[in-house]
Amino acid sequence: MEIIDFEAHFYTKEYVKALIKNKSYPKYKKDREKNIHWLWYAPNVLEPHTGQLLERLLDLSEKRFKDMAEAGVKMQVLSLSAPGCEQFNPPLGTKLAKKVNDELSRIVEKNPDKFVGLAALAPQDPGEAADELERAVKELGLKGWKTHSNIRGTYLDNKKFWIILEKAEKLGVPIFLHPTIPLIRELRKSYGYALAGPAFGFTFDTALCMMRLILSGVFDKYPNLKFVLGHLGEAMPFLLNRLDFPFVRPWVTQGVKMKLSKKPSEYFKNNVYVGTSGESHNSALICTVQTMGYDKVLFASDYPYEHTAKAVDRINALPLSDEEKTRIYHLNAKNILGL
Ligand SMILES: [Zn+2]
Repeated sequence: MEIIDFEAHFYTKEYVKALIKNKSYPKYKKDREKNIHWLWYAPNVLEPHTGQLLERLLDLSEKRFKDMAEAGVKMQVLSLSAPGCEQFNPPLGTKLAKKVNDELSRIVEKNPDKFVGLAALAPQDPGEAADELERAVKELGLKGWKTHSNIRGTYLDNKKFWIILEKAEKLGVPIFLHPTIPLIRELRKSYGYALAGPAFGFTFDTALCMMRLILSGVFDKYPNLKFVLGHLGEAMPFLLNRLDFPFVRPWVTQGVKMKLSKKPSEYFKNNVYVGTSGESHNSALICTVQTMGYDKVLFASDYPYEHTAKAVDRINALPLSDEEKTRIYHLNAKNILGL
């Protein structure tokens, strides 16, 4: 069966150089003895990148093709890996995003049957980012935007970013909302990457950003806006009915001005797709597919951080019909990316 992997990450050499050169956060530091690069998201929050992982992130040819073939993946949807361009100062972030998009476009053009690309942007300069999204889609042939759960101290529901959301809706391209380390101080303090990283903080920061977007009314303003969440919807499918609590018990919202035409769960089911990435428990995967419906779930592995063949095995083992699996493996991705 044809498989498209919606969550596959890369770095460019120039991006790595920028991380190494950066004086503030995020930055990259090499431990030569251990052959590990440490990605410093913030003080005390360090992610280890082994030599092998970095090699995989930088390789967009033979080694990656081999991994794809072994897992039976025909095509990867490429996106710049975390921390992306969102945390740099605005001019540097904007410059980096453009260079990444230029290179990504060249790689996709060279391998049109193997790769599709999502643009990187620096929303900290919203006007430039909106223009760059248009250039990336119209001139470079990229198919959407991959962003991170917070941007230099704020979330995407902030109205200054809506110019980019408006552009995405107008261009008809999806926004992949990917985790990064959380803004909430208590999630960064005391336990480093164990609390702030993928095990916990990543998920809750991304779910928080998504919930803020829903409550902001952005989906009433831009009803055709499409978001994608990775990692089984960052736990939100599990919480879906509970998200509606203030709306089915309206006294709870007293004193808060919120005008939404639908319940939060309805926006989530209408405007959000979820990927299957992450080393997840099988019952969580089944819950996600049943809650979202098989037409809203995208196969995703989080390459090269996770093992793609195992991610395929987990979907193969689900009690789903061939038609349902076909949708999850490639039809939904083709639909949302306009392939
Ligand atoms: Zn990822």
